[in-house]
Amino acid sequence: MSFVVFDLEWNSAAPGKAGTSENLPELPFEIIEIGAVKLSAAIEPLATFTAKVRPQVYKKLNKYIARVTQLSQESLSQGDPFPLALSKFVDFCGEDVILASWGLSDPQVLKQNMDFYSLDTSFFNKALNLQVFFANMAEGGQNSQQRSIEYALEFLNIETELSFHDALNDARYAGRILNALLLKKGTEEGKETLRPYLYDPFLQREKSWQTAVTAGRNAEATIREQEFTCPACQSLLTTNESIISNKKQRRWSWVLNCEKHGSLRCAINRRRHEGKDIYYFKLSLPYPPKGY
Ligand SMILES: [Zn+2]
Repeated sequence: MSFVVFDLEWNSAAPGKAGTSENLPELPFEIIEIGAVKLSAAIEPLATFTAKVRPQVYKKLNKYIARVTQLSQESLSQGDPFPLALSKFVDFCGEDVILASWGLSDPQVLKQNMDFYSLDTSFFNKALNLQVFFANMAEGGQNSQQRSIEYALEFLNIETELSFHDALNDARYAGRILNALLLKKGTEEGKETLRPYLYDPFLQREKSWQTAVTAGRNAEATIREQEFTCPACQSLLTTNESIISNKKQRRWSWVLNCEKHGSLRCAINRRRHEGKDIYYFKLSLPYPPKGY
C-alpha cells in the first residue's frame, strides 16, 4: 500500500459576452492539470508526476481560473487528452494506492471526469481526506472550519517556497503536511491513525427525496412511514433512536443505522404549500464511513 498525494486544476465554462455560458451538469469542471507526489514508506517524496490536459469541453480558459492558476490559453492546447493523461497517472500510481488530497473536491472532480469518458475507475477505491485528517490531528477536530493548505502549512511551520495553485506544488505541500502530521506520531503508529480517514470515493453518500401529505398530519408518523435505505448499499436502515425536532417543529433529525456503513443521519424539513405539508428528506453517510 502506498500513498500518492494529488492535486488537480480544472476549467469550467468561460463567461461569455451574453453572460455565463452553460456548464454541462455531468461535467461541471474539466481537468486541465494533474500533479502528484508518490510518498515512500517514511512518507518522504519518492517521485513526482505532472500532466497537462487538453480540454475537450471547455476549451476556452475561464478568466478567474487563469488568474488563480497562472495558466495560459496557449498552455491548454499543449496537453494530452484526458484519457491518455489519466492512463499515465494510473501507471504512476501503481497498484494498491491510497490517493490523498486536500478536501473532497479533487476526488469528486476526478471521478466526474473519469465517468464522463467512461474510464475504468477500479484503481481508485481508497481516498484520504487530508483536510479532515489535519483538522483532527492538529486541531483536535474542535474546529470544523475547512482550513486551507496555506493555513495548515503555517500552523505546522512548514516552509512555503513554492508557488501555490500549481497542481504539483499543491500536491507537494499536501504531502509535507501528511509527513509532518505522521512524524508527530511516529510513522507506523501514524499510519494506523489514518485508517478512519480513508474512504471509497465512489460510494454514493447521499440520498434526497420529498413527500407531500395533507397539511397538519402528524409529523412523527409521516417520518416513520418512509422507507429509509442506505445510499451506498441500499440495505434497509434500522434504528432505536428517537426523532429529534427543533422548537418550531419544522425541522427534524434522525439517526439510523446501516450494518455495513455505520450510523447515518437524516435531516428532515417541512414546508406548507397549497394545503399540503411537504417533507424534504436528506440522508447522508457518516464521514468517514465505517469499514476502512
Ligand atoms: Zn450501507
